[in-house]
Order: sequence, then structure tokens, then C-alpha cells
Amino acid sequence: MDNIIQFFYNDNQTIQFSIFIAVFIACWVIEFVLSENKFETKNKHALNNFLFSLLGAVVQILIGLFFFKLIIFENSEGIGLLSFFNIKSSIGQLIFSLIFLDFTYWVYHFLMHKIPFLWRFHAVHHSDAYLDVSTALREHPLETFIRMSHYILAVAFLGPYIWIISLHQFIQIVSKLIIHGDFRLSQKVDRILSYLLLTPNMHQVHHHYIRPYTDSNYGDLFSIWDRIFRTFYTLPKNELIFGLDQFPEDIEKPDSWLKLLKRPFNSKNYKKVYK
Ligand SMILES: [Zn+2]
Ligand SMILES: [Zn+2]
Repeated sequence: MDNIIQFFYNDNQTIQFSIFIAVFIACWVIEFVLSENKFETKNKHALNNFLFSLLGAVVQILIGLFFFKLIIFENSEGIGLLSFFNIKSSIGQLIFSLIFLDFTYWVYHFLMHKIPFLWRFHAVHHSDAYLDVSTALREHPLETFIRMSHYILAVAFLGPYIWIISLHQFIQIVSKLIIHGDFRLSQKVDRILSYLLLTPNMHQVHHHYIRPYTDSNYGDLFSIWDRIFRTFYTLPKNELIFGLDQFPEDIEKPDSWLKLLKRPFNSKNYKKVYK
């Protein structure tokens, strides 16, 4: 445990980034072996998604600088829910933080779907008609800003040790890559794992083009919130169609990165479903 704390306390970003790249490549190779999609289609699609991650990285770095200063300040002053409840042990803080932050993510994701203005930005992630590990990178930069702002508020309210934030973000990003992978777990493994954790099978249902499936499985790491709030859905592989019924043209002819960046700013694009 001490080694883990030390590793994340020092925020070893180079090693974390290397693990992120390794997981990305591992998923890519598995997909390449299993996928029916041609190599060129997969590459072109990934490039479009990769461009989103460049803008997202700028937003994350800028917000991150302020964010870590805020947490250091909170830790030194003993501010936050964990201090209020006098939870000081590493393991106690870790369990409480993972559960709390996972729940706030569920609420955030639910609101991104239910508030029409926010949906416009989140729909860019859902507009991908071909789901693979690169879809994890596909996030409108304004959504990155909204997501990070929500995360800062949740963390500021909680006030955990700084290494917990570093660990949580690391788990979050690795999990995000895996759940977007173009592969499925066997029904049996999925059924067992999905009692507690979010699985690729679950997230694929979230990317099904039509409601109520699009509005299901909002979880981040744990599946418990979807089970509690009855938004847990399953669908067999042969019934899955990725994308959105609002944008059927995305399936035939996907928009370029630039067009997708502009799409949320034209409300007319979304009137087909949301009035
Ligand atoms: Zn969503
Ligand atoms: Zn997704």
C-alpha cells in the first residue's frame, strides 16, 4: 500500500502516461485481431478521435494546474467532507473517495444526457458510429471543461489526499479505454463482473443508437448506481447499432472533426429529438 501511495503521491506522470499508451495499444491489437473492420477504416476513424484528445489535453493541463494547488491548500487547512468526518486512514479515505467520486460521475453523466444544452456537447461522444478504444478520446473540449469543473467541485467538497486523486484519475482513464474496446466479455463473465463493475458490454449498450438504451448504464467504474436507479440495461451483440438516431447520417458518412466541433453550437441540429 505504501508503494502505491508513494507512486501516486509523486504523481509519476511519465510512467502513468506510458501505462496509458500500453493499454491503448493492447486494446488496439486485440481489436485488430478480433474486429471485422478494415485497417484503413479503423485508422481514419481513430485519427478523427485522436484530434479531440489534443484539444482535451490542453483544457485538462490548464485546469489541472489550478486543481492540484486547490487540493494542496485544502489538505493543509483540513477542509472537506473527509476531514469533517475525521476519516484520516489511507484505506478509509480511498474507499470513501472512490464511492463518492463514482456517484458524482454518475450524476454528472445523467445530467449530460437529460439537460438538452449539455447533451449537445456529450452527443459528440455518442455520435461515433463505430465504437473502439479511440472513442474514449472523443470528447468535445467544452465537455472536457464541464467534466473537469464538475470533478473539481466534487473533489473540493470531499477534500481527499492528493495521491487519491492521482490514483482515481489513473483508474478512470484506464477503465475508459477498456470499456470502449471493440470486444466483448462472455455472457457469464459479464454477468458476474457487472454486479459491481462497469464492463465493455455495458458501455456498448450505452452507445446503442436509440433510447432508452442510450440513456442507460451511466456508470464510470461501478455498476451499482445503474442498478440502484434502474438504468441498468443489457443487449446482445447482434442487436447493437452504435451512433445516434438524431444523426443517422453519421452511420453512412461520419462528419469530420471540425464539423463535429461546431455541431453543438447550432441548436437546429438537435431539434429532431429534443424540443
Ligand atoms: Zn453518455
Ligand atoms: Zn462512451
